[in-house]
Amino acid sequence: MTRDALDDWLAPYAARSGASRGRRLAEPEAATRSAFQRDRDRIIHSTAFRRLEYKTQVFVNHEGDLFRTRLTHSLEVAQIARSVARNLRLNEDLVEAISLAHDLGHTPFGHAGQDALHECMQPYGGFEHNLQSLRVVDELEERYAGFDGLNLCFETREGILKHCSVENARLLGDVGERFLLKQQPSLEAQLANLADEIAYNNHDIDDGVRSGLITLTQLLEVPLVARHAHTVRNDHPELPGRRLVHETVRRMINTLVVDLVAESGHRIAAAAPRSIDDVRNALPLLGFSPAVRAEADELKRFLLRNLYRHYQVMRMSAKARRVVTDLFNAFMDEPRLLPQDHQARAERDRPRAIADYVAGMTDRYAMKEHQRLFAVGET
Ligand code: MG
Repeated sequence: MTRDALDDWLAPYAARSGASRGRRLAEPEAATRSAFQRDRDRIIHSTAFRRLEYKTQVFVNHEGDLFRTRLTHSLEVAQIARSVARNLRLNEDLVEAISLAHDLGHTPFGHAGQDALHECMQPYGGFEHNLQSLRVVDELEERYAGFDGLNLCFETREGILKHCSVENARLLGDVGERFLLKQQPSLEAQLANLADEIAYNNHDIDDGVRSGLITLTQLLEVPLVARHAHTVRNDHPELPGRRLVHETVRRMINTLVVDLVAESGHRIAAAAPRSIDDVRNALPLLGFSPAVRAEADELKRFLLRNLYRHYQVMRMSAKARRVVTDLFNAFMDEPRLLPQDHQARAERDRPRAIADYVAGMTDRYAMKEHQRLFAVGET
C-alpha cells in the first residue's frame, strides 16, 4: 500500500505519517518509505538494537540458547502489536517502530541491572529505562552525519517514553508534556505497551517451564492457564508436556489478543474519537475487559511469586546487582578507567556518562568488564 493509500485506510483516530508532528531536526522525506517505516528501519540498523540479542529478559543470556532475550522479546511484542493494530485500523508501521525500540535503554541483566543502576544514580537524577530508551534514540547512537541519535518522529519518541517522572518530564520538552498535562499518548503507543504485557506474561511461562523453575502442576493453579490447558487436553488427550505448554500458551495469547481487540473496539466506539487529538484528551481507550484483566493480573502475580522470586533467579539477580554496582563505583572513583570516548563524556557529566556506558553493556560484556577490573590476573 502506498503512503497515501495507507493514510486513507487508517481509522480517523490512528496516527498518520503524513500528519506527524515531525522530527527534532527537519529532514526531506524518504522516496520509498513513510516517516514511521523509516523510523523502524533506523531502529533496526542501530547498534543498541543488535545489543538486545545479548541482554537478559528473565534468564541471563549464557544460561541457555533457547530462552527469550530482549531481542526476541521485542520481536514478539512487535508481532502481537501489529496484528492488533491491523484489526483496529491503527498504524502498523508506527506500532512496530515503538515495539522494536521500547527496550533499547534496558541495562544488562534485566530488572536487577536496572534497579542497581537506579540506586547508584539516585543522587544524580536516577535511572529510568524508558527514559534511557529515549536517550538512545535521541542522543547516544552515533551513526548519522547531521545529528546525534536517530532523529525519530515525535510519535515514535512519545511511544518509547512509556513512563516518566514529573521531574524528568519537565526537562524533556515536547515528549514530556503529556505527563504534565495528564494526557494519553497515541493508540499505537498504548497498544505497544499492552502487547509488551501480553508477550512477557506468556513467554515467561514458556521459559519458566523450559528452565524447570516452574512446573505444569504449579501452573494449573492459575485459572487462565487451567482453562486453556483443560481444553487442550480434551482435544488432544495424549499430548506430551512441552507441546501441551505451547498449545496452552498460544491459546492464552489468542484469548488476550481477541479480548483486547473486542474491548478496545467497544471503548473506541463509545468515545468516538475523530482524531489523534481526541485520543490524547480521552481516557485510555485500549485495554482488556474487566474479567480478562483480572485473569491477566492473577497470572502476573503467579509469575512474580514463582518465577521472578525463585531462589535461583534471585541469586542471579543478586550477582547482577553486584556487577552493575561495582562497575559504576569503580568508574566513579576513577573515570580514567573508562574507554577514551566515554572519558570525554564523563568530563561533562561523570555519573550520567557512566550510567550510559554501563546501561549500554550486554550481559557478557558487563561480566567481562567486571573481570577485567576486579579479577587479579585478568587483562
Ligand atoms: Mg518489554
